[in-house]
Amino acid sequence: MTPATAPNPLRKTDAPHLLALPPEELEHRLGEHMTTRGQPRYRVQQVREWIYEHLAEDFQEMTNLPQEEREALARSFRLAGPEAHTISRSSDGTAKHLWRMADGELIESVLIPSGDRLTLCLSSQAGCAMGCTFCATGWGGFARQLTPDEIVAQYRGSLRWALEHDYGAITNVVFMGMGEPLANRKAVHPALTILNSGFGLGARRITVSTVGVVPGILELAARPEQFGLALSLHSPDEELRAELIPLEKRFPLSDLLNALRKFRDAGGRRITFEYIMIRGINDGEELARPLGEMARELEAFVNLIPFNPIPYQDWQPSTPKRVEAFRATLEAMGVSAAVREPRGRDIDAACGQLRANALVQLEDGSGSRPRARAGGGARSQ
Ligand code: SAH
Ligand code: SF4
Repeated sequence: MTPATAPNPLRKTDAPHLLALPPEELEHRLGEHMTTRGQPRYRVQQVREWIYEHLAEDFQEMTNLPQEEREALARSFRLAGPEAHTISRSSDGTAKHLWRMADGELIESVLIPSGDRLTLCLSSQAGCAMGCTFCATGWGGFARQLTPDEIVAQYRGSLRWALEHDYGAITNVVFMGMGEPLANRKAVHPALTILNSGFGLGARRITVSTVGVVPGILELAARPEQFGLALSLHSPDEELRAELIPLEKRFPLSDLLNALRKFRDAGGRRITFEYIMIRGINDGEELARPLGEMARELEAFVNLIPFNPIPYQDWQPSTPKRVEAFRATLEAMGVSAAVREPRGRDIDAACGQLRANALVQLEDGSGSRPRARAGGGARSQ
């Protein structure tokens, strides 16, 4: 591993990162670059193909470009991604990457194979400022926003790994790793464009998961592409929801539902409700009915997720019997609901978990911890 004091090659320049540019802008910038160098126009197309089709991480991979053109590109642009700090593979095929950013921050992304799907769950922030009480990332606090290239590089790096390890291509992307994507819209909007119109992943195969940032939902509704939206609902009751999700006080459920109506009315879009089931907290039968009514009105699909215990409090997952009864109530109301299988338990699949473990490892002296983080910083943000 590179010592923390070594100059970081990713940091040596402020040159634009080619994974951070929406495809049209990428072509424009490359066009200017090639014209200045007296290069033919088709070089732009060649570089574009290396990026989006061959998933190049280094200009030296671009073997149909003359050596001096590769070097000129490397002087004007960046292309490298974060280093894969750890890759853990579960017995069920789930594979988790822990990425180390240029400044030492750690984030994670997870590949989840299921039938003929391969879903990538990626991170939008290092840490999270939302402070949800059930979430390991929330307890860890917020470190910083990710840049568009840091988001898209998780896709490129994971896809390279998946193809090398016979997982096939990534069919779906969900923003359900670390962070609140709609609290980092400046980076998430371009990242969505780049995944969709650069890498060619269909908008309906990309889902943004939010804890309920209303202006962000409205912005997504206003985009022409039909990206999917998952709302982390976790309770149909405002009071209980506010105990689980501090943001509920800022964007109450009533406002949230109005935003979701607008999102649905924008046409052809999918809404999913995510509902973590915590024993004795939010799994009562009396909550299944109002949840079912909300889902029915918005034609939302409900994902029931057994709570994954985290180190910071003693909540437990709902019993399988309770989860099934909850699901049956929803189905009886005509709402489609599924129980999400816990995946990758043996590699710590809970949100933020792997990174938390890696930080403990680093603190033990098995590596250099990049920066001190105030414990429970999320609580005060
Ligand atoms: N901030 C966004 C997206 C990232 S959270 C959001 O909250 O929607 C990713 C997913 O992990 C969310 O569905 C969240 O509810 C879930 N999650 C967080 N902590 C969990 C836990 N302890 N057990 C099970 N799922 C958890
Ligand atoms: Fe942030 Fe989502 Fe975790 Fe809440 S559940 S703390 S919004 S990552």
